[in-house]
Parts: sequence; C-alpha cells; structure tokens
Amino acid sequence: MNSPFSETKLSGAKVDRKFRAGVLGATGAVGQRLVQLLAGHPWFELTEVAASERSSGKKYRQAVTWHSEQPIPAGAADLEVKGLEPALECDFVFSALDASVAGAAEEEFARAGYPVVSNSKNHRMAPDVPLLIPEVNAAHLDAIPLQQKNRGYGSGFIVTNPNCSTAGLVLVLKPLADAFGLEKIFVVTMQAVSGAGYPGVPSLDILGNVVPFIGGEEEKMETEPQKLLGKWDGTRFVEAGIGISAHCNRVPVANGHLESVSMSLKKVATLDEVREALSQFTVGDELAGLPTAVKNPVIVLDDDNRPQPRRDVDAGNGMAAVVGRIRECPLLDVKFTLLSHNLLRGAAGAALLNAELLAARGLLTRSRVPAGETGQPVAP
Ligand code: NAP
Repeated sequence: MNSPFSETKLSGAKVDRKFRAGVLGATGAVGQRLVQLLAGHPWFELTEVAASERSSGKKYRQAVTWHSEQPIPAGAADLEVKGLEPALECDFVFSALDASVAGAAEEEFARAGYPVVSNSKNHRMAPDVPLLIPEVNAAHLDAIPLQQKNRGYGSGFIVTNPNCSTAGLVLVLKPLADAFGLEKIFVVTMQAVSGAGYPGVPSLDILGNVVPFIGGEEEKMETEPQKLLGKWDGTRFVEAGIGISAHCNRVPVANGHLESVSMSLKKVATLDEVREALSQFTVGDELAGLPTAVKNPVIVLDDDNRPQPRRDVDAGNGMAAVVGRIRECPLLDVKFTLLSHNLLRGAAGAALLNAELLAARGLLTRSRVPAGETGQPVAP
C-alpha cells in the first residue's frame, strides 16, 4: 500500500520517538485496517496485537483471515497474538473488539493505565467519555480529566469514535450546523457489508438483495449526532437537540456507506450557500498537522450520478465524506447524497486520527499509572 502519510506532514511531526500501539481485536475487519494503517506511521509503532482465545498464542499471520490486496505488513506478520489481559508492551491501545467483550476489556485497560482509543459502541454515550470526530468536536477531549477522576483512573482513559454511518453524516452536518443551524434530519442509509465485520452478513442473505434492518444502527444514528454536535460545558455533554429520523439498510456493496439526507435548517439558505459551506469546510492548523487528517474533509461533486461507492469511496485517502446531488427538498429545505468509507472514516482511520490528536495534545504518555496509584509509573 502506498503510504497515506505525506512527506510534509512527516517532517512537520513533533514526535521524536514513536508511541508504541497495541490493537485489541486486531484480527477483525477494523483491526486489520488499523494494522495496515499503522505500518509506516510517523508517530506510532505497532508492538502488540490481541484478540480472542481462538487467535491468542498464534502468530498474527496464522490467526488472521487477511482481506487486503496488499500483504500483511512485515512488522505485524510474526507478532504473537495475545489475549485481553492488560499487560501489553505498548503505550496505548486501539480497541476494535466485538461489542460483546469491548465494554469490560476497555475499562480494564484504562484502569491499568492505558489510554484506550475505541471503535466499539459500548462507551460512546457514557457521560464522561468523549465521542470524538476531531474536525467536529475536539473540545470534547476536555472531559478526560473528569473521566479519570470519576473512575479513579491513573494515566488511563477511554475515547471513542462514532458508528460508521454516523461518522460520515456528522462530518457533513458540522459545517451546515455552524453556518445555518440544524432543525431536522431525515436520513436513509445504504450500508456496505464490511460494516458488519467478518464473516459478517451471510452471502445468501445479501447477494442480489437488500436487508432493511441493521440491529441498533438507527438508534445510534439518532443519538450519536446529538452528542457529537453538542457541547462539553465543563461538567457534562449538552446534546444538540436536533430532530433525527434514520432508516438503515444493508446493501451488497463491499466498502462505503451511501446516505440520502433531507434536512431543514434554522436559517434560510440557498443551494449555493449550502454548497459553499460544505466545500469551504477546512481544518485548522492543529488538525492539518495530524498525519491522517485531510485539509478538506468534505468533498463536493457536481456530476448528477455521484458519489458512488465503487468510484468515490477512497476520496481523500478514505477520510473524506463525499457529497453530491445537492438540491431542494419539497418536504424539508435541502437534500443531498453522501458517501463515506465505513472502515476508514467510520472506523480505523477515525480511531487513528483520534489517537493522533491525543498525541498532539500531549494526552499520550510513555509511562503508565494504574488506577488508584499516583506514584511510580509501571515500567514498560
Ligand atoms: P469483527 O470483524 O467481527 O472483529 C471482531 C474482533 O473482536 C476480532 O479480532 C475478534 O477476534 C475479537 N473478538 C471477538 N470475540 C472476542 C472475545 N471473546 N475475546 C477477545 N476478542 C474477541 O468486527 P469489526 O467489524 O472489525 O468491528 C470491531 C468493532 O468495531 C465492533 O465493536 C464494531 O461494532 C465496531 N465498528 C465496526 C465498523 C465496521 O465498519 N466494520 C465501523 C465502526 C465500528 P477473533 O478473530 O480471535 O475472533
């Protein structure tokens, strides 16, 4: 794989020694993407992979069913897969664990002093856990000290990224919320099969078919944007209070969630103003300096038949949301189509960007302090 990290950003990086990263759930669909993205990362080095008892004790290359066309990165192939005991040789962990185990495991790692950068749903809506999209709500990281105090954590904490279909939607909603305010959102998704992990949806259920149900997905899409677009007031998250109705469908597409969105705005806006707000959405200097960030996280296409998953899913290294078909909505104010890469913008890339922001803000450390201890850090 060509390195997604540009030379300019490499030379601009302030990190003098790489942080050692572990990936929990490294054998799954999201975990594999993380392993792939960490190869050649300028700030992070993959030192540990962990998964279930089915995989632990094996070499990574023997435990994983590898999906990428690129080979398993050399630095990962021979790592021994560990179990979920929080005794890994790393400075922080990504969690790409199945939700059935993520909740307790992430808490145990945080308690043992590891910063946990999670993809899983378990802690997203907790009142002291940031649900983070750096381009949208970086200020929510200010909740971390309260989380550590509330839970008695030492150097550990949990930060989460949103559900894969929420991630693209909220990235597009952010500039519109800032420019015009948001009143109501009606969204219908067409979600890729890789969003269900591996082996995921049985082929006989999805080939030549559409499944109009994804368990828990509509609830996530209706609640997570409220936290993401809301505010951290110093003691709690204040929700955005937007009316959202979501319909979620699984379609036979490999990667990329397509979403048809209608919305009403608080302030009257022309279609040109909406298009301008979206296409002029750029990140500031802090985010532009992060290796995985893209300067323009929303890309607007003018062709009538775009975006399309096969053609547009990798736009902006898979970290941009692609918007097209901006037009008037006879019921609400404006409608459009958006696409985002569920495994990159919606999962592995999102977690990586979150970890980069933590590193840039000095929130990752190289010595762990377990819960209840303020003295000597644990030697790596
Ligand atoms: P997946 O392909 O099913 O992978 C799940 C991972 O969890 C595997 O590494 C698996 O290890 C591990 N695991 C399962 N049971 C375990 C246990 N009892 N103990 C320890 N490890 C266990 O799922 P995924 O799609 O990568 O999703 C991972 C997480 O990210 C989920 O919480 C999911 O909801 C979330 N997420 C996924 C997407 C997406 O687009 N796929 C997007 C956003 C968020 P083994 O291989 O050893 O079984």
